[in-house]
Amino acid sequence: MLILRLALCLVLVASALSLAQPSEPPRHNFVDLQTLIPDLLVEMPYATPHNFTGETLYPANRAFLVEPAAQALASAAELLRAQGYRLKILDAYRPLSVQCKLWEKNPDRNFVAHPSTGSRHNRGASVDLTLITLDGAEVDMPSLYDEFGAKAGAFQKGLSPAVAVNLQVLQKAMQDSGFKLLASEWWHFDHPCWKDSPLLDIPLTEL
Ligand SMILES: [Zn+2]
Repeated sequence: MLILRLALCLVLVASALSLAQPSEPPRHNFVDLQTLIPDLLVEMPYATPHNFTGETLYPANRAFLVEPAAQALASAAELLRAQGYRLKILDAYRPLSVQCKLWEKNPDRNFVAHPSTGSRHNRGASVDLTLITLDGAEVDMPSLYDEFGAKAGAFQKGLSPAVAVNLQVLQKAMQDSGFKLLASEWWHFDHPCWKDSPLLDIPLTEL
């Protein structure tokens, strides 16, 4: 049954790709974030089995965004470096077929975009991230990554003063660099260039 549902989902992906991308090449180049921002820490749970699906979904721990989003992220990293922080990337470009697997495990539109419309991650324009200190220590945030529910909210009340400050530092740097917040997930940021970027299903090892 699970295999059948996944097969149906992949048919949806094929149809979304044909609708969204009428054989045009991508308008933006993809940028390897680790190359652009050398002090970035890239630790993507989907490249390991330690994520909410329990499966390794990516063949490589490599983070890509399309160029306008990548350059905006470099600006945010610069703003944060001056305040004593680095960025830790949790997810960036995500192939559309992986979106199917996430939807299979958590079919809740508040947290996972339906594969027929795709996520802005599938366009290389969204990034999931958190802060670490310059020497690599974790910085406290409202919840764990992919901890779906009220604790994931970007505008929640009742946070400890330290967590509220940490979240504000991250949000301000990202917003000042051109990203938009997502109310339901504190770790997720969208760059407006998603409107000019097609849905894609290119594996991370082929970019
Ligand atoms: Zn996200």
